[in-house]
Amino acid sequence: MTARPRPLAEAARVDPRAWARVAIVATDVDGTLTDRGELRSPIVEVIARLIRAGVEVIPVSGRPAGEVLGLCRYLPGVTRGIAENGLLEVVPDRAPRWISGRPTDVERLLAVGDWLNADHQAGLQRTGDAFCRLGDVAYEREGRGEPELERLRERARERGVHLVWSNVHVHLAEQLPDKGEGLLQVLAQEGTDPTTVATIGDAPNDVGLFRPGRFGLTVGTRDVVDQLQQFDDLPQFVAQAREAAAFSELAEGLLARG
Ligand SMILES: [Mg+2]
Repeated sequence: MTARPRPLAEAARVDPRAWARVAIVATDVDGTLTDRGELRSPIVEVIARLIRAGVEVIPVSGRPAGEVLGLCRYLPGVTRGIAENGLLEVVPDRAPRWISGRPTDVERLLAVGDWLNADHQAGLQRTGDAFCRLGDVAYEREGRGEPELERLRERARERGVHLVWSNVHVHLAEQLPDKGEGLLQVLAQEGTDPTTVATIGDAPNDVGLFRPGRFGLTVGTRDVVDQLQQFDDLPQFVAQAREAAAFSELAEGLLARG
């Protein structure tokens, strides 16, 4: 477990070198750019101001490639994103790119889902957005409690598949989802120094964005403080605010640099 995060307001003083070097903000989307599920006009304007100031903004989301594509097409100045918890790089008008260089074997994952349903009474129903997903196989959680999910996770493991869940979905995956690893690979492939990247997120699926030594600066929204025990690694800094106001807090700080 890493040290308890310090207030974001102290970042420029605690680590002035890292603060001065930030040229990219890699941001989670749900609960970090959104407020109660909506992308509102103030945050769109904050993103536009960062871009005008020369700071790239890269959405890094667990959402399907098709949904991240829409964000990259319409958010001002945003040219690319990372989807499905680090599996794919998405650029409008280009084919989505497998970050590992190897497509996910979706048929195999679906076969494991079918086996869980047939032999282990899982009752899994695929999500309505399955047509937007390229590598991630997701099912509705439908209120399943943790004991049931842990049971299914054990069965999936017998077939060499990771079963993970959020508050709404159950996912089958070939590798444990890691947004940070996906982002690091994209940066390495283009020769970008990850110490010029600030990351920000709100939930346990952002833990790879917080792992010490990976990025220049790591920030959690206030929501992270309420669930510290859910994180194997913590961000260095935490915003005063929750959701999109936390992103704005980071952005305004960066925009105010001399
Ligand atoms: Mg989130």
